Amino acid sequence: MSTVHPRQYIEVANEESVKERFWCRLEQVAFFCRQGRDNMFLHRGTKLEALPADWLDKVCCVYDSATTCCGLHHATIPNCDRERGSPLRALYYDVYERNWDRDSPKSQQDTDVWELLQRHKTAMSPTSFVYKYKGEEQHRPHIYFIYSCPAGLLREHSAWFLRQRASP
Ligand SMILES: [Zn+2]
Repeated sequence: MSTVHPRQYIEVANEESVKERFWCRLEQVAFFCRQGRDNMFLHRGTKLEALPADWLDKVCCVYDSATTCCGLHHATIPNCDRERGSPLRALYYDVYERNWDRDSPKSQQDTDVWELLQRHKTAMSPTSFVYKYKGEEQHRPHIYFIYSCPAGLLREHSAWFLRQRASP
C-alpha cells in the first residue's frame, strides 16, 4: 500500500470545491440558517453575485461531500470529519424551535430555511456515512444520528409541542 502524504492531497479552491467540501458545506448551511440567502454571495473573481437558485439545495446535503481525512484514506487520522454532527444538530434544533414557536413572527427567511430542511431532511440526516480507508469505501453507521437523529428529535419535539398545546 502506498502512503498518501498530506501534501499530495491538494485541491483547487474555487466555486466547485466550496460546493463539495464538507466543512465548506457545513459553514454555508449554518450561515444560511441564521442569516438567510439574501446575505450570501458568490465571488468568481470579479464581483459579488447572488447565489445560483439551486446552490443551497446542493450544499445542504453536508454528509454527501468531500473531506481531507477520507481523501487521504485515513492514513494519518482514524476519526472521520463526518462523525461530527453536533453543529448540525444544534442548527436543526434552532430552526425547529423558530418554526414551531407560534408567538414568534415568521420571516420569508425562516420559511425558506424550514422548507430547505424539509425538502432534504433524509439526505441531511443520514443513518450512515462513507468512510474511505486503504483504498476502500466502508459504510459506517452514523451512531449519533441513529440514537438522536434530527428527524427523530424533530418528531419528539413535535409531539411535545402538540401535547403542550392540547393541555389547558
Ligand atoms: Zn473521513
